[in-house]
Amino acid sequence: MAHPTFSTPPAPLPDISLRHIDPVAYPEGVAFMDGQYLPVSEAKISVLDWGLLHSDATYDTAHVWNGRFFRLNLHLDRFFGGLDRLRMRIPYDRTQVTAILENSVALSGHRAAYVEMICTRGSSPTFSRDPRQAVNRFIAFAVPFGSVANAEQLERGLDIAISDVVRIPPGSVDPQIKNYHWLDLVKGLYDAYDRRAETALVLDSHGNIAEGPGFNVFIVRDGALTTPAYGVLPGITRRSVFDLCIEEGLRCTARDVSVGDLRGADEVFITSTAGGIMPVCRIEGAPIGLGRPGPITRRLADLYWAKHEDPAWSSPVTYPL
Ligand SMILES: *Cc1c(COP(=O)(O)O)cnc(C)c1O
Repeated sequence: MAHPTFSTPPAPLPDISLRHIDPVAYPEGVAFMDGQYLPVSEAKISVLDWGLLHSDATYDTAHVWNGRFFRLNLHLDRFFGGLDRLRMRIPYDRTQVTAILENSVALSGHRAAYVEMICTRGSSPTFSRDPRQAVNRFIAFAVPFGSVANAEQLERGLDIAISDVVRIPPGSVDPQIKNYHWLDLVKGLYDAYDRRAETALVLDSHGNIAEGPGFNVFIVRDGALTTPAYGVLPGITRRSVFDLCIEEGLRCTARDVSVGDLRGADEVFITSTAGGIMPVCRIEGAPIGLGRPGPITRRLADLYWAKHEDPAWSSPVTYPL
């Protein structure tokens, strides 16, 4: 078979000003990769990494608040669980990963930090299509803490859209593995913006509510809480809500949540390491309950932040003097 040929010479390269340049404004932070700590702006991976080419990666996000990690052990459990399920291996054990995360935060100096640990499939010297030949890559970084909802939204409650996008089902990608399969969630966000809402919930494969871009959802009805059970990432903040409900004697169940359940709730909130427990007070403009953050949401959010000082729920970072 003949080679493809150019009937016309290749077009000249575009003007350099049209090339994509990485944004200069990286957040201030420290990354760890290939055995060393470096500024986040200098942490770069190969374009041939399967993490980039196939979203073949797992990760976890923990946070540091007031100089203390929050429930880091639960994040490590989930991360190492994901590595096993994906048959990935990293050259560090749990104690070493803990030290790497602590060092990244300490070197960054951030007292409130968003801390990510990532393992990508990596790449192989032959660009092999066999994932077993790839050398897995571990990366960690600490940047300033960020939240799904800003201060104003936390005060008045978010306006959320219910997108008709269906979240990738558990039979395709195991939701217990925290992953970068986000095309459904990003489509949900654009649906939300088109409807003048601020963020989105997507559906599970049975048409019930699943989750949103990086958060789980709870509804409160007659003093009892419910959160979707099927097809969602088991969030650590979601787990924290379960634990707080036990302490507070509140009823909380994981089961199907229909679109009608959500619309008819007294209170709705979303949960994420990026922001904690965040009130949702409108669905595409229509108020939920009284249209302002409800008493159970407020109480749980206050307890959640108080736990950040509790040694049973948090551990200190040792910063250089
Ligand atoms: C990370 C994440 C969440 C929230 O989990 P937390 O552990 O509470 O931060 C929810 N859904 C998806 C898809 C996520 O990636």
